[in-house]
Amino acid sequence: MKLVWAYRVTPNPFIITSATRKANERLRGSIKLFSVLGIPVEINATWLIAFAIITWSLATTAYPSFFGYWSTVQYWIAGVVTTLLLFTSVLAHELGHSLVALSQGLKVRGITLLLFGGVSRIQGEASRPRNEFFVAFAGPAVSLIIGIGLMVWWVNFAPAYENQVKLIHGVVFFTGWMNILVAGFNLLPGYPMDGGRVLRSAVWGVTGDTGRATKVAYRVGRIVFYLLIGWGAWQILNGDIVGGIWVALIGWFLMSSARAEIGGREQAKRVTSDPGGLDHPMFDVERATRPMPPMIESSWSVEQISYQGLPANPMTSMPVAKEGELVGFILRSDLDGVPLEHKGEVTVEELMNPETLRVISKTNSVRDALRTMDRHSLSQLVVMDNDFVIGVVTREDIVEALMKFRVANGLPDGNLGDSDDDRPTSV
Ligand SMILES: [Zn+2]
Repeated sequence: MKLVWAYRVTPNPFIITSATRKANERLRGSIKLFSVLGIPVEINATWLIAFAIITWSLATTAYPSFFGYWSTVQYWIAGVVTTLLLFTSVLAHELGHSLVALSQGLKVRGITLLLFGGVSRIQGEASRPRNEFFVAFAGPAVSLIIGIGLMVWWVNFAPAYENQVKLIHGVVFFTGWMNILVAGFNLLPGYPMDGGRVLRSAVWGVTGDTGRATKVAYRVGRIVFYLLIGWGAWQILNGDIVGGIWVALIGWFLMSSARAEIGGREQAKRVTSDPGGLDHPMFDVERATRPMPPMIESSWSVEQISYQGLPANPMTSMPVAKEGELVGFILRSDLDGVPLEHKGEVTVEELMNPETLRVISKTNSVRDALRTMDRHSLSQLVVMDNDFVIGVVTREDIVEALMKFRVANGLPDGNLGDSDDDRPTSV
């Protein structure tokens, strides 16, 4: 059967991945192409490398080995068109994730096409296992629909004889086949790939325990990534250098994004499962509060703020005011993401997410503060004393204040190792 054969002949660069990244993680070297339903679509400079490698593989290897009657120029035209259609398909895959996320009330900051495929920047976490499943599965579902649709067309309309196969038939065949590969590859259970998220939602649904679900998904994912890297190495040893390096790089890229993502969760979890003082009745939000930093005006352009001098840490959040009233927060990294040529036009108001404005009472426990930050993916909360704003609190402020509180009260340093359960503290 032709499909089985295609699997052997198709070079690895057609394995394209997609990942959902944290919303605040902007990719350097990206430019905005257009918006779809309010979702900005960006293209990263590394995409050009992918474009070159995939076009080259198609034009010099894949197409000639399938359709032997075309000219060199035809192979290259087919290669370019197929690569463009492949990335259009990847965009459709990402839109699948993004639109389902939007329908569930999550925020989508944008889609970026890059070297290994695409990334949807979705803000916040699904609140239920079922929602996580639908967001994760929507992308591969789109790829499958496109892939199966095109393959059905090929089966019905492709000529029986190879010398009658035209460019359009070839392009439909490869685009369809590559979409099926995209769906299949992304459904491998390697968190944070789609399949890993599907696995996580399943474990979450069965056990009701998000921490355990993440751990299982991460462990299974690690095995998948090592297998990918091993497969890549094996191919390099067998002479397929480009294909081997590509697969190994994808394995490495996915493993590092899994680490980054799990790292953030674990860190938050360690702080919140720490027995040393977090639930101490004397240790409330007020102890970690600091005065409101100087506010920046929402009407200012990114350039104007830069003149004022920016904080050194990209994760530092700055309060934003509109006509003297606090309306939200913005991170330095949000400003960094704006391309240089647009820094004069883009205003803070356009960049700022109004959801960043959330308050907590000074008498709440810091555990509540950390939970609220986790739930809404925030870096800071506004601290209130009844109706008055008394300052802000950040994760770093809490950790720092906690350290001081422990020293002052002779409390244990707390267990910073891996702890499985969120046990309540007895002080
Ligand atoms: Zn995906």
